[in-house]
Amino acid sequence: MTRVVLATHNRHKVEEVRRILDGLPVELVSGLDVDLPEVDETGETFTENALLKARACAHVTGLPAVADDSGLEVDALGGDPGVRSARYAGGHGDDDANLRRVLDELGAATARGGRFVCVAALVTPDGHEITVTGTMEGAITAEPRGDGGFGYDPIFVTVGQQRTNAELSPDEKDAISHRGAAFRALRPHLLELTSR
Ligand code: IMP
Repeated sequence: MTRVVLATHNRHKVEEVRRILDGLPVELVSGLDVDLPEVDETGETFTENALLKARACAHVTGLPAVADDSGLEVDALGGDPGVRSARYAGGHGDDDANLRRVLDELGAATARGGRFVCVAALVTPDGHEITVTGTMEGAITAEPRGDGGFGYDPIFVTVGQQRTNAELSPDEKDAISHRGAAFRALRPHLLELTSR
């Protein structure tokens, strides 16, 4: 088994990524198992932030590191919350306040389209870098619905669905999510790493 660090302390993300990478000869360690550096997400794009986090983790642990950066882009808000998704209403990670701000800003607008975006980066200690992107297109609802998921899931309905992401089962969401798409695209790169 090749040890790979997943650069996050977020339990939801660890569980989701473990399910998506299931079957690979990779032992995934995360911020739940080892001390990871705190990294300021100062990048202006998801790609910059994913690389900042993966580089810092590879440097500190000496192991190949995977990091992702993700968020919600709403077209009528000029792409906001974007890279500020986790802190859109001020405090970091206040999901309810964040989604309320999006609903307030959209008001009764009929153009409510947007997407979740996820960039996953793989960085090795010897400086090899790969990034892949996954997206999930959809629209913002009028009101939050559902108890599952996290973040903006209660106000997002993806194309082809009537239910919000928070009303989908974890397996249903993984199969169509931006993070699912990005990490599935990373699988062949991780496999190549294990065969080196
Ligand atoms: P980060 O990728 O950990 O920086 O988090 C980005 C933020 O985007 C999260 O705190 C959520 O607010 C939002 N976000 C990213 N992915 C999802 C998702 O799958 N569902 C709902 N919100 C998400």
